[in-house]
Amino acid sequence: MKFVLNNIRTLLTLKFTAVFAFLLLAYTAINILFLYNYLSHQLDLNLKEDLEIIVELLIQKDVELPPTIDTTTHIAKPYERFVEIYSDSLKLLYRSSAFNDAIVFPISFKDGYSEEPAFFSYTLADGSQWRMIAVKLKSHHYNRIVRISMSKEHITEQMKEFFTFMSIIAPIFLIIGGLSGYILARQSLAPIDKMAAQAKKIGAKNLKERIPVINSNDELGNFAAVTNDLLDRLQYSFEQLKNFTSDASHEFRTPLTVMRSVGEVGLQKGKSSEYYREVIGSMLEENTRLTHLVDSLLLLSRADAGRLELKKEKFDVLEFCRECVEIISILAEEKKQSISISGIKNIFVVADKTLLRQALLNLIDNAIKYTPVGSHINITVELKTEKTVAVNVTDTGGGISKEHQEKIFDRFYRINKDRSRETEGVGLGLAIVQWIMNIHNGTVSLQSSSHGSAFTLILPAESA
Ligand code: ADP
Repeated sequence: MKFVLNNIRTLLTLKFTAVFAFLLLAYTAINILFLYNYLSHQLDLNLKEDLEIIVELLIQKDVELPPTIDTTTHIAKPYERFVEIYSDSLKLLYRSSAFNDAIVFPISFKDGYSEEPAFFSYTLADGSQWRMIAVKLKSHHYNRIVRISMSKEHITEQMKEFFTFMSIIAPIFLIIGGLSGYILARQSLAPIDKMAAQAKKIGAKNLKERIPVINSNDELGNFAAVTNDLLDRLQYSFEQLKNFTSDASHEFRTPLTVMRSVGEVGLQKGKSSEYYREVIGSMLEENTRLTHLVDSLLLLSRADAGRLELKKEKFDVLEFCRECVEIISILAEEKKQSISISGIKNIFVVADKTLLRQALLNLIDNAIKYTPVGSHINITVELKTEKTVAVNVTDTGGGISKEHQEKIFDRFYRINKDRSRETEGVGLGLAIVQWIMNIHNGTVSLQSSSHGSAFTLILPAESA
């Protein structure tokens, strides 16, 4: 069975303790190695110094050797030296002391000792380890071999002491380290608990609530800020959706109510055929309005779902504007308005002509609807940059005040909601224009003053 740790705190603590244990182990190993090298080096230095003293006595001062070979035995004390001097013919001339019977250094003269002092390490029959320095001395009268040995016992002892010390101190350090790791992990992760507790409270009913940002400079603070941004966007979309649904229901309700009340009145007896014709006429008007509303909503919802396929083709923009004006000119004529078109020929775009036509017709239709009788509408086509074309729809109406300019592209936004239902639309026209421009990598913008409004469509231009 696989063991899974779901708690980050414990996981962090375990990982931290493991790393700490490894570091402690590495520290102990390095220290033991260092200590061993240091003590071995000191031992060699001691032996070398001793040898130098003996060599000085024998060679420079030519001191006569006491003809002693100490045969008394005793247990070697720490740092005690064991000196041997042999003649050329390997006869033992001097021995400082015999430690015990077991200590008999092997006298291997196979390669002979050199005139340069050399070090040797021995393990004797009793298991004890020794270090020896040996040299061959040449004087005017005789040759001598001098050997000084010292037990390595004290090194082993000190190593053992250090090891015992570390084996007591390391677990204590490990426990302290592990506990500190746990406390640190708990402290560091505490904000997450707070954030999670707050996030649990956030739902559709209280989307205004936000996650606390404890320190905006650290990673968790940054995460909380990013999540809050996400909540902002979600709240905005949620509110848009709510408004959209209630606005759409509202827009449906009015024509349906009108149709019902007109129908109810029409059902009353004793009315003339003229009257019934009028009733049917106004019902059809409301029906047209409803159809238009449903068409617009369908287009926008398909657009939102990304289910609209563009049928792109290449066409001349000025020519296209003329076609659009031809379609809508009847409405302008009814209001005694004039529409003029000017601009450069042979500027092409690759776009879905049907959708783009709808966008331009929406703008011209608005210009007709929202400007007074007898006013003038001007449409111009120009190259904005080398690779973009601009279509401007300018009217001479009353303009749109600053406070409305930003909002008129929102869905269902109308400046004057209680204006005549015949002239005013449902507030989806400009939202559709904006969406059509977006999917064509274009933009729609507005410049308006009290002398009129100018809507500009900008699209990527194609070379002829
Ligand atoms: P509608 O379907 O109501 O025309 P739009 O989205 O096309 O909706 O327009 C939103 C609002 O912007 C309109 O209700 C109108 O008040 C205002 N508007 C649009 N075009 C013009 C214009 N050319 N002049 C003045 N107001 C305009």
